[in-house]
Amino acid sequence: MFDKVLIANRGEIALRIHRACKEMGLATVAVHSTADRDAMHVRLADESVCIGPPSATESYLKSAAIMAAAEVTGAQAIHPGYGFLSENARFVDIVEAHGVTFIGPKADHIRLMGDKIAAKAAMIEVGVPVVPGSDGGVATAEEAQKIAGEMGYPVLVKAASGGGGRGMKVAHNAEEMSKAFNTARSEAKAAFGDDAVYIEKYLQKPRHIEIQVIADSHGNVVHLGERDCSLQRRHQKVFEEAPSPVITPEQREKIGTTVVNAVKKLGYLGVGTIEFLYENGEFYFIEMNTRLQVEHPVTEMITRIDLVKEQIRIAQGEKLSFTQDDVPFIGHAIECRINAEHPETFAPSPGMIKEFHAPGGLGVRLDSAVYAGYKIPPYYDSLIGKLIVHGVTREECIMRTKRALAEMVVGGVETTLPLHQRLVDAADVNSGEYDIHWLERFLAQSES
Ligand code: ADP
Repeated sequence: MFDKVLIANRGEIALRIHRACKEMGLATVAVHSTADRDAMHVRLADESVCIGPPSATESYLKSAAIMAAAEVTGAQAIHPGYGFLSENARFVDIVEAHGVTFIGPKADHIRLMGDKIAAKAAMIEVGVPVVPGSDGGVATAEEAQKIAGEMGYPVLVKAASGGGGRGMKVAHNAEEMSKAFNTARSEAKAAFGDDAVYIEKYLQKPRHIEIQVIADSHGNVVHLGERDCSLQRRHQKVFEEAPSPVITPEQREKIGTTVVNAVKKLGYLGVGTIEFLYENGEFYFIEMNTRLQVEHPVTEMITRIDLVKEQIRIAQGEKLSFTQDDVPFIGHAIECRINAEHPETFAPSPGMIKEFHAPGGLGVRLDSAVYAGYKIPPYYDSLIGKLIVHGVTREECIMRTKRALAEMVVGGVETTLPLHQRLVDAADVNSGEYDIHWLERFLAQSES
């Protein structure tokens, strides 16, 4: 058991974790770089420790500095949030070697799912359908051409260690293959220090649908339904909703059961997300995220389950307090990721937030760590906050999102608020008829 948690993260997610800890009566320790001295997570935490200069590699990614902070403050558990060290199996080993509890899955599962080639093989073993593709890694452009020729173009060359949409290249024919193969490999090497790549059929009109799961250390596994994250730019999520406008309760139960059985066989612990592409009524696994996700609040809004508190309870060795039959799916939720970026060029716009007004009212939640007078540092991601809205129906949820977006004021920096306003006005978003390529088409049309 522990009563003091170190939060190894920054921004809105550090605050999100702090809030769950306080509601559970746990003390919190914030860690921060010199650039984040005035950050909200530092101000609100019970204690804080400066762990290094602005560069993330010298601070939020530096396990030795984080362990030293845990040591001096006597924190008995570490929550990694998302990003930074959250999917770093080596960090989990270090945390545990110090007798500190890592609030998350076991290192072996993080390691397995961090290698997407191994993850796909493991999912096939436990009965999960995957995107058709190469049987393991592909070593040369010639081999890639041979496999793609047999499978049929277009194909996607993907990095085994990939993340954040990087190290992914499409080839529409044999001529494009050697370039796609070599670019994906060198990008992967530069970004992840690993040039292993594999090939998948490039699906033309899929949706991105992911299933949230939760598993305790007593063998209980429950799924919390799906999130539809098809509205993406450069393979990165922009707007998410739950439930998906295209999934029926029967389909939810079927894919949910497949996922729960797979997760049981894997012996997975904690919260996790199994990501699928969904096309013509079929699900195809792409990857598993072994952490809390940015878009987790939409699931919380429709199930009324606090995923961070559940993570903490599971790490304390408690049993899940609910069964599959207890999980309700109530109404509809949407999340808009609001970034400090130009709404058309997407150029980052760090700097001082001069004016700030948070929207409110029934069904409106803003997960953000900014305030008027806060200076967004240029060193980290550009997320200002997540606007999460719940409604009894999807229609009500969309109308409420529109009015909440209209209420929100962020002055002094460029933001993607105008993009979200255009999205909730778009006919295809209102009818729910969009796929993973829809947003790029929408942006290209408005440019011309
Ligand atoms: P990352 O770990 O970099 O986020 P993913 O494998 O999760 O990579 O894929 C990210 C996004 O890229 C998906 O949500 C989807 O939009 C697109 N994508 C991935 N695989 C395919 C595929 N086989 N066909 C079409 N699009 C794909």
